[in-house]
Amino acid sequence: MVQAAVIGGGISGLATALSLSGRGYGVTLFEAEDDLGGLGATFEWQGVHLERFYHCLLPDDHALLPRVRELGLESGMLWRETKMGFMYRSRIWPMNTPRDLLSFGPLTILERLRLGLMGLRARFGGLAPELDAITAEQWVRGMVGDRCFDIMWKPMLSAKIGDRYGALPALWLSSRMNREKGSGPERKGCLPGGYRSLVDAFAAELARRGVVLRMRTRVEEIVEDGERLALRTAEGDGGAYDVVVSTSPLHHFQRMTRTLRVPESVAGLKLDYQGVISGVFFTGKPISDYYWMPWVDSGATSQGVIEMSNLVPLERAHGLHVNYLVNYAHRDGELFKLPDEEMLARYRADLASLFPAAAASVQDARLFRAPYVEPIWTTGYSKVLPPSSILMGRLYLACTAQVYPRVNSWNSCCAVVDEMLPQLFEEVAARTVVVGGRS
Ligand SMILES: Cc1cc2nc3c(=O)[nH]c(=O)nc-3n(C[C@H](O)[C@H](O)[C@H](O)COP(=O)(O)OP(=O)(O)OC[C@H]3O[C@@H](n4cnc5c(N)ncnc54)[C@H](O)[C@@H]3O)c2cc1C
Repeated sequence: MVQAAVIGGGISGLATALSLSGRGYGVTLFEAEDDLGGLGATFEWQGVHLERFYHCLLPDDHALLPRVRELGLESGMLWRETKMGFMYRSRIWPMNTPRDLLSFGPLTILERLRLGLMGLRARFGGLAPELDAITAEQWVRGMVGDRCFDIMWKPMLSAKIGDRYGALPALWLSSRMNREKGSGPERKGCLPGGYRSLVDAFAAELARRGVVLRMRTRVEEIVEDGERLALRTAEGDGGAYDVVVSTSPLHHFQRMTRTLRVPESVAGLKLDYQGVISGVFFTGKPISDYYWMPWVDSGATSQGVIEMSNLVPLERAHGLHVNYLVNYAHRDGELFKLPDEEMLARYRADLASLFPAAAASVQDARLFRAPYVEPIWTTGYSKVLPPSSILMGRLYLACTAQVYPRVNSWNSCCAVVDEMLPQLFEEVAARTVVVGGRS
């Protein structure tokens, strides 16, 4: 039996372990934390499990939904139409239909028309490869003008990537616009038990297939061990394997493989990540009827809110509304380093000034942050996108550094895994013949 190690217990690692074990491989999965799920992990609150960072599914999650089905959860899924609002200087504008766009008061009529044309161009122009060579900022400014970019797009881009928005390629933005704004009303999905139930279903199925889960075990290094690769963990020896798949962020992978002959295009690739701060507020009163709402020029620290209860039934949090105030912020920046109490105080102040009724009904709050979330893509990334196969038949990469130009999501991570697997199976089989023949 081929022995495989999977590094990381987020969706990329869980999906990889499920497929490898389904193919008859012996699998050991290493997870540094004491919980599975990675960025989709949950926290316990009054007996229920809620996501630390807002998460939902989309109808076109074509790589993720088959896994939800395979794990027997699809029939329980809830789908709802959701809406987006846009707060500009404390006034909220709906932003869902062409009519909403044409009524968006902060822009002139001409700017609104240009904005509408931009939406059409992004939808019908698709993922034109030349968009990889120019920044989203150049692309958008050219289509809608400087004023519209500053009022609308700059805040929307920084609401996703913080102050690094200037680097983003137009290809990424076009992909994002295609994913989130189809032609019909926006529909999002969730599971009654949230991402927790999905992670638990993965864990149960992996256990049933004999996958060994090594929790709280951080892999520090991958080294040569004859024909195999050995893992060194913080605790010592992690064992030797025929094939290793790493799903940890790129720079972790680069650090772990310092002594291996990894191609320079991967070993030397520079890709920084943006982090996120998430304040989860439990309120007795709703904020609005929008699922998400960025806010601009409104004097707030946070960049906007995701009102999860406009998707997830209220019963999930004992009848309270669950709201995520967010900032995408770099781990080295001042905001990211502020103590939890200070961040929560700032978020409370945001709520008090923008939504006093909801603020007065806050019953509880939690703060979470993650340093490595969104890869900060730069123009030309298509040309340096890391391959899956790093050492043929022995070492593979399936991580967020490879989702480009897709949006970073559980679905895109599953798609990366799906792209890696055929090559892995073929190369491992070919190598088994050669190595087996030699021995
Ligand atoms: C605020 C926010 C909102 C989001 N919203 C959505 C959404 O609505 N829908 C959606 O689909 N996606 C959403 N995402 C994106 C989604 O969370 C990511 O795309 C996905 O979780 C990435 O999965 P991954 O397994 O590649 O990485 P991660 O989730 O980062 O998991 C990597 C895992 O590997 C472990 N690990 C790393 N290095 C090692 C090591 N050396 N040894 C052992 N273990 C290691 C880590 O502890 C971690 O558990 C959101 C993310 C954030 C932060």
